[in-house]
Amino acid sequence: NACVVIVGAGHAGGSAAAFLRQYGHEGRIVLIGDEPLLPYQRPPLSKAWLKGEADADSLALKPAEWYGENNVSLRLSGVAERINRAAKTVTLASGEAISYDFLILATGARARQLPIPGSDLAGVLALRTAADAELLKHALGPGKRLAVIGGGYVGLEAAASARALGAEVVVVERESRVLARVACETLSTFFQDYHRARGVTFELNAGVEAFEGEGDHIRGVRLSDGRLLPCDVALVGVGAIPNDELAKDAGLTTANGVVVDLAARTEDPAIFAIGDVTHRPLPLYERQFRLESVPNALEQAKQAASAILGRPGPAPEVPWFWSDQYDLKLQIAGLPFEADRTVVRGDVAAAKFAVFHLKGDLLQAVEAVNAPPEFMAGKQLIAKRAPVSVEKLADTSVSMKEVAA
Ligand code: FAD
Repeated sequence: NACVVIVGAGHAGGSAAAFLRQYGHEGRIVLIGDEPLLPYQRPPLSKAWLKGEADADSLALKPAEWYGENNVSLRLSGVAERINRAAKTVTLASGEAISYDFLILATGARARQLPIPGSDLAGVLALRTAADAELLKHALGPGKRLAVIGGGYVGLEAAASARALGAEVVVVERESRVLARVACETLSTFFQDYHRARGVTFELNAGVEAFEGEGDHIRGVRLSDGRLLPCDVALVGVGAIPNDELAKDAGLTTANGVVVDLAARTEDPAIFAIGDVTHRPLPLYERQFRLESVPNALEQAKQAASAILGRPGPAPEVPWFWSDQYDLKLQIAGLPFEADRTVVRGDVAAAKFAVFHLKGDLLQAVEAVNAPPEFMAGKQLIAKRAPVSVEKLADTSVSMKEVAA
């Protein structure tokens, strides 16, 4: 009847509580979260929810009654400040010290800020929490001008949603293409063209020098070349930083995230870490990596709950991710480590295609736009680690089922 304390009531932390109960844990569970809300899903914050197509209730991971019915003790608006590993306690900002037999760190990541003048002006926003999303939604509407700083997935999704709300959108990107860190050039070009055709403008290879204000509110983004892009609101989407300080202060190893094994365990056998905050093994690729995705949060929540209950862990999954923009459903499986060639299958112009990344004849990753069969079969092929025929992959007259057989 061990007591499990979970720090971070986000997707990973909330799911860990659920898996513990589902797997039969009868001991105490305490879930500590510094946001005022019950665990909720973040993906809709830049998509359906921002466009007004999903209500707040639909974001919740579990209905409010679930926590009482399952005897999960909540500390919402509770900030965990310190871990005492010798005494096995977590101390909150309120002064409360909570004892644990097992501790799960699920503190996620926070939006990276830009260290430039004007970052504290009203209307310079980030998009990580429901509170952030609320501010952004209120700032958008017909005729409002949004400047998105950073052409990553969150920035592009917000751009698409803002267009749906009638706002004017410019995306400012330091690199020569959007999604430069996370997608191949074919995909970047495709998304840029798709957004442009829907009224978004791009400033590529563009540095941001400052946010300029009128009073205390933003009125424009000053670029490094001296131009001012007028705007009513700016969204800074330049990546996320893992909230690993609590672990680091407790002497646990961190390396862009808390280092864990395949059971999501840190070097302290009583402490686990899951979700965006971890630097985890990827057995398929024989390396460690930090992933930021819901499937990763769920997989590691299962790993930790299984280990705590002495059950066999889940089979390792192929990492995957999705993004929705306009009528596009992008699905990505795997990671293109050391890939030396790409194969495009389908019709890019018709917005229905997949890009496969191979290392020799092994499939490392697939990026699929409105192409679920390519995504599904690609994911299976990545897991199999068996040689793939490039000719068959490129040939749409051969079904993906056949390619994967
Ligand atoms: P989080 O969900 O961030 O939860 C961590 C929680 O811990 C937070 O509430 C944080 O405030 C809290 N916390 C931190 N420190 C403390 C402390 N000391 N004490 C108490 N509480 C603390 N993923 C996808 O797979 N597909 C998508 O389409 C997608 N879209 C996204 C869109 C947006 C706008 C964002 C922001 C993310 C998106 N993601 C998407 C990523 C996905 O939401 C994250 O990978 C997932 O939320 C990670 O879960 P987590 O529990 O590790 O972190």
